[in-house]
Amino acid sequence: MRISPGYENMNASDKLTDRYKKQNPLTQYPRPPFPRQPQDRPGSVNKMEPEPDHGEESYVGFGRLKGRKALVTGGDSGIGRAAAIAFAREGADVAINYLPSEEQNAQEVVKLIEAEGRTAVAIPGDIVEESFCKELVQKAVAGLGGLDILVNNAGRQTAQKSIDELTTEQFDNTFKVNVYAPFWITKAALAHMSAGASIINTASVQSFDPSPNLLDYAQTKACNVAFTKALAQQVAEKGIRVNAVAPGPIWTPLQSSGGQPQDKIEKFGSTTALGRPGQPVELAPIYVLLASQEASYITGEVMGITGGEMPY
Ligand code: NAD
Ligand code: MG
Repeated sequence: MRISPGYENMNASDKLTDRYKKQNPLTQYPRPPFPRQPQDRPGSVNKMEPEPDHGEESYVGFGRLKGRKALVTGGDSGIGRAAAIAFAREGADVAINYLPSEEQNAQEVVKLIEAEGRTAVAIPGDIVEESFCKELVQKAVAGLGGLDILVNNAGRQTAQKSIDELTTEQFDNTFKVNVYAPFWITKAALAHMSAGASIINTASVQSFDPSPNLLDYAQTKACNVAFTKALAQQVAEKGIRVNAVAPGPIWTPLQSSGGQPQDKIEKFGSTTALGRPGQPVELAPIYVLLASQEASYITGEVMGITGGEMPY
């Protein structure tokens, strides 16, 4: 367990885990090759090898989000799980949304949030329905007692070799999850947000540098960037900030559950300057920054976290 006896009385710097010690980022986390590990969509973190780091034992918070109320979609696993854990460690109450089949991963996150003495609200449901997106925001607001931070992070990515194999059904579902849902959820959430609130969208390197096998997905991620930049200008007058994070290859179940063919999983992250995939926890500090008041002059931005795979 991360918290040792006497933790409350320690100086802030004494609380830091190994993650905060100076070290070589090349060797800080696992490097390819990785084993093939196909699993069904949406995938579980517990079937991943090596196990991803979402900050469970490594992220240390300093109260930067004390008393804030956050909703994170796709909060059961991957990047959303890392954001949810970090937000709780920084003092926020957190609601997470996920698919009903992901209840096990979601309950693991609930336990971690509650271990920080924060309120956790678990809201399963499929965000392809506008009615559920409205209900999701209502339940989050009711469970948390308000809403200050929205992370639109849920996403679908299914690789297809050619446009001939990309069905209308997949194209439609990818757009529903990645484009329509953030629109519906944001629209409902804004009614509850006041000055100082923050919206964070998870875009991708694919927004700027599309891979041929991600024809539908890359388009949706470009949409996330345009949505971020347009909305940021619209809601600035209310004192609400809107930003996006554009990750490179991150070690999450999205990739092994159809996001990439298995031969790409074996060498996942090898094309980056650092030569390895990022771990979800390596994105947590940027979500915390964008959510916090420390980012008071940051809006309409897209922050790349790519291990040096700079497509733009
Ligand atoms: P992940 O699989 O851990 O998280 C994605 C989550 O989306 C799932 O846990 C699931 O809860 C949710 N989701 C999918 N379809 C849904 C639906 N219909 N209704 C409700 N929830 C649904 O993977 P991740 O990589 O952490 O993905 C998070 C975000 O990061 C996505 O938007 C993804 O596009 C983006 N991203 C990931 C990478 C990467 O390399 N992993 C790179 C760039 C961007
Ligand atoms: Mg998941």
